[in-house]
Amino acid sequence: MKHILLLTTGGTIASRPTEEGLVPGLDGEDLARSIPFLTDSYTVAVRDILHLDSSNIQPEEWQLIAQAVYAERGDYDGIVITHGTDTMAYTASVLSFMLRGIPIPVVLTGSQLPIEHPLTDALENLRIAFAMACSGAPGVFVAFDRKVILGCRAVKTRTRDFDAFESVNWPLVGSVDAGGLHIDPSALPPRPGGDCVLRSELCRDVFLIKLTPGLNPELFDLLHQMHYRGVVIEAFGAGGLHFIRRDLISRLHKAAQGGMTVVVCSQCLYEGSDFTLYQAGQKALAQGVIQGYDMTTEAAVTKLMWVLGQTRDPAEVQALFARNLAGEVGR
Ligand code: ASP
Repeated sequence: MKHILLLTTGGTIASRPTEEGLVPGLDGEDLARSIPFLTDSYTVAVRDILHLDSSNIQPEEWQLIAQAVYAERGDYDGIVITHGTDTMAYTASVLSFMLRGIPIPVVLTGSQLPIEHPLTDALENLRIAFAMACSGAPGVFVAFDRKVILGCRAVKTRTRDFDAFESVNWPLVGSVDAGGLHIDPSALPPRPGGDCVLRSELCRDVFLIKLTPGLNPELFDLLHQMHYRGVVIEAFGAGGLHFIRRDLISRLHKAAQGGMTVVVCSQCLYEGSDFTLYQAGQKALAQGVIQGYDMTTEAAVTKLMWVLGQTRDPAEVQALFARNLAGEVGR
């Protein structure tokens, strides 16, 4: 039998109703008891690391989760992490960078209804997460509603439907039918050579701007005063920012001179950006901004936090951000 570690962090899957709404209250043993098929089919060890609604999972918790996975990686065939769905895509993305080259499957899952609810989707999600954890396919993944998604390509797109996550600009890693779990090898992350080294240093001073028509460029001065070192801009369409009347583009130049790294991507969910297409994009590129291409916002934000945590040298930041580290960019 495969040996799987179940790491729990809270989320709806482990929640119970209280007077203040759903609160994570169940631990890993409770989860494991609710799903006898798990202990019949796998040797399961359980470790509770957090009991949080994922709205409260922040960079400090990402580091804790990464450290736990890294410490246990040699003792198990795979690791399943239960996690709230709201920020699961951020955690999955950042773990993909922190644990690049992890030699086993690390699979995040959760549910839209608590595991104790009669109509819960938790059992189905745990089933696929455990199947993926046994697959031998290394990397960080999200398993949900009979799909397996590359961690750095997952986005939560629905608040209620059980089909809560999509794989954005990337094929599914895995799907299930009567023949079992099918894995698409072309959707797996690149394999860096050498051993996996935990790199959990992060820069928390990264801001995300969703561009709106006429956004006041003085916002960049405020961010500078607040010591933000990185900004991700979800720009318009294939890639454009306004420069008449309110000149965002010249502020980008000032921001770069002040040591701020700016990444530009699209606020369209699908198909990515290309800032070379329009004048309004090319002008931004000329100011030294970095293109996010087809990355999800979750991947762009966490990659920038991670890259700025590895180096302060602007040329190294550019070079590291440009690399496809975990399947988050390119195709
Ligand atoms: N608020 C919950 C969380 O993210 C939602 C969920 O788990 O589905 O922890």
